[in-house]
Amino acid sequence: MAYKIKDDCIACGSCAGECPVGAIVEGGSGFQINAGECIDCGACAGSCPVDAIVEA
Ligand code: SF4
Repeated sequence: MAYKIKDDCIACGSCAGECPVGAIVEGGSGFQINAGECIDCGACAGSCPVDAIVEA
């Protein structure tokens, strides 16, 4: 079960550098998590200033 980024994302980019497998990429109106690469570690969730990263 991968994490996902909600529409609340303000595209600050703070999460992308936290992901150990590079699963977070910029796309559309904000950042997105590649579900196929996410290892469900949760490292990104705590870095989000608007709590936009949740377990899918
Ligand atoms: Fe990357 Fe871990 Fe967040 Fe998945 S849960 S996107 S592997 S930092």
